[in-house]
Amino acid sequence: MRTDSPPKPAPGDGPPAPAAPATPTARAAPATADAPAGRYVGRFAPSPTGPLHFGSLVAALASCLDARAHGGHWLLRIEDLDPPREQPGAARSIVDTLAAFGFEHDGPIAYQSRRHALYQQAFDRLVAAGHVYPCACTRREIADSIVRQGQVLQRHGELVYPGTCRDGIAGGRAPRAWRVRVGDAVIDWQDRNGHHGHEALATEVGDFVLKRADGLWAYQLAVVVDDAQQGVTDVVRGADLLGSTSRQIFLQRLLGCPTLRYLHLPLVLDAHGEKLSKQTGAQALDARDAAGLLTRAARHLGLAVGDARSVIGFWQAAVPAWRRTRIDPLLEPDAAT
Ligand SMILES: [Zn+2]
Repeated sequence: MRTDSPPKPAPGDGPPAPAAPATPTARAAPATADAPAGRYVGRFAPSPTGPLHFGSLVAALASCLDARAHGGHWLLRIEDLDPPREQPGAARSIVDTLAAFGFEHDGPIAYQSRRHALYQQAFDRLVAAGHVYPCACTRREIADSIVRQGQVLQRHGELVYPGTCRDGIAGGRAPRAWRVRVGDAVIDWQDRNGHHGHEALATEVGDFVLKRADGLWAYQLAVVVDDAQQGVTDVVRGADLLGSTSRQIFLQRLLGCPTLRYLHLPLVLDAHGEKLSKQTGAQALDARDAAGLLTRAARHLGLAVGDARSVIGFWQAAVPAWRRTRIDPLLEPDAAT
């Protein structure tokens, strides 16, 4: 059975360290084989800022198909760490919509809002090791300081923190956020889709925030802690998150967690070439057309699937199609059989 009810934190929840995946309480209908424990663990991790739309359906489908095609586990994690951005009822709506579209997650749903203790433990470890420092700067001050250094502010880019508070906060100022020292780290990675990252963190992002001025945990920290604690091995997500990969690998290394395998997929764009999102008014999915929408999503992912007459029929065809299209038999002989 699927486990929909928000679970209490499991007593076994420990600090972020390589952990065995939770015992699955559900086996999805489209799974083709029992997952060998500890092999492939994937996840879909939406933020409850609104109902699922076509762009998030594509992301969910890709991560789920990849897990099923590998005979692995597929976890569902609700990233509800940022209450001001969230919409009441959206988490419930996402869970219900996934079910209506035939997604079946393994194990209980993880809610980030119930996992603060894990993030605190990881944060405390980084503080104890001297990797983290308090920062008193406002966004305005950071922008001014970048301009003073003669650098150009990117219009949509993130501000590269100039390191103002790295050696201590100026007298009379109070800490606002907490940042991690990136030092001279250069992160090199390659994903399964041929994306290659080579990022000198000091010049690309600077010391980045782990705990925000509003007291909330930063996305990067929570994701890394959760992936490690849940035993995730593979991340399949949209190309909009390419820019987060280096920072996440950096934090994995600082925390002694394994580096994951990544696959970044093309986003769904609207008529203006913008990423389809709740912010740009993407429509909620209509479950009455689940089979049709799933078929469209699969074709967006490059799968040659026929028109599905039912949700079950769709999944039966889509898993082998993903295996043929997305899994390289030379690199992954076990998964491709
Ligand atoms: Zn500062």
